[in-house]
Amino acid sequence: MYDVVIIGSGPAGLSASIYAKRAGLKAVTIEKSPMSGGQVVNTYEVDNYPGLPGINGFDMGMKFREHADKLGCEFVNATVRAIKPGFMVETDAGLFETKTVLAAMGATHAKLNIPGEEELAGMGVSYCATCDGAFFKGKTTAVIGGGDVAVEDAIFLARGCEKVYLIHRRDELRAAEILQQEVKSLPNVEIIWDSVALSIEGEDQVESLKLKNVKTGEESQLSVDGVFVAVGILPESELLSGVTELDEKGYVIAGEDGVCKTPGIFVAGDIRTKKLRQIITAAADGANAITSIQEYLVRNK
Ligand code: NAP
Repeated sequence: MYDVVIIGSGPAGLSASIYAKRAGLKAVTIEKSPMSGGQVVNTYEVDNYPGLPGINGFDMGMKFREHADKLGCEFVNATVRAIKPGFMVETDAGLFETKTVLAAMGATHAKLNIPGEEELAGMGVSYCATCDGAFFKGKTTAVIGGGDVAVEDAIFLARGCEKVYLIHRRDELRAAEILQQEVKSLPNVEIIWDSVALSIEGEDQVESLKLKNVKTGEESQLSVDGVFVAVGILPESELLSGVTELDEKGYVIAGEDGVCKTPGIFVAGDIRTKKLRQIITAAADGANAITSIQEYLVRNK
């Protein structure tokens, strides 16, 4: 019987593992990916985590995991199938009986849901610039979106691509000011404002993008070799549907303490309703949730 089963090994789950270990809880962290770190490992550079300026996202994920390993935290590689009352966490590697569950499954990338996106996925359509950018050295790519991820992707791709188009549906980017300034300073990045992608076209490989200017209604064709979709994230909360309360977008409703409506279920990181989704707030969530779990365990001895 565990005190807590932590699901997910991004910054929230890893921070929770560390705090749980130091608090003397019997804890296990279940991760479905063979690599810890969550979305961070696909980030080229992280420049807003105190003490680690400009760290590579992959290195940061590894550092978090090394820290947990050094403390002797327990990890299991498995996919969780269900969370049953009691609690019983069902996975493809067996059952885990636990007094509490900490859901730290994070979020995954959203899709555009336009023609060609699914058909050409892996054939020029990508959701991860740091994973696939190297295939487009010297080529022309487009990034769709206007948030931190889209702008970071455009900056990263501009290092190897001949030309990068950043396509945004409004006339103002959502990304942090420092990223906006950097992307606007790059000679091989062109921002196409007020435009949405209608379709991604190509035979066996991406060849072009059909765009529409939302202000003028004008449609155009843009020749590109690759399309990077960065239009936000979706919470990975399917497992919690019917287990605890979610908001209309699927985020798990909880405050900073990570306490969910269902007693014994706690939440941390990007999957939680919150204002700022960053590595530092995810890590803080993991710490807060473990503190709430300790209090819960004392009350429910
Ligand atoms: P995001 O901040 O939600 O931005 C999504 C972008 O995609 C927005 O610009 C949005 O346009 C656009 N968009 C959404 N749906 C679209 C559609 N159907 N067609 C075209 N454009 C669409 O998401 P994100 O950039 O993936 O970032 C996710 C979270 O991680 C954010 O909280 C972000 O701050 C955080 N993050 C932080 C850092 C960092 O601190 N360095 C790095 C990466 C991520 P509108 O602007 O018009 O809504």
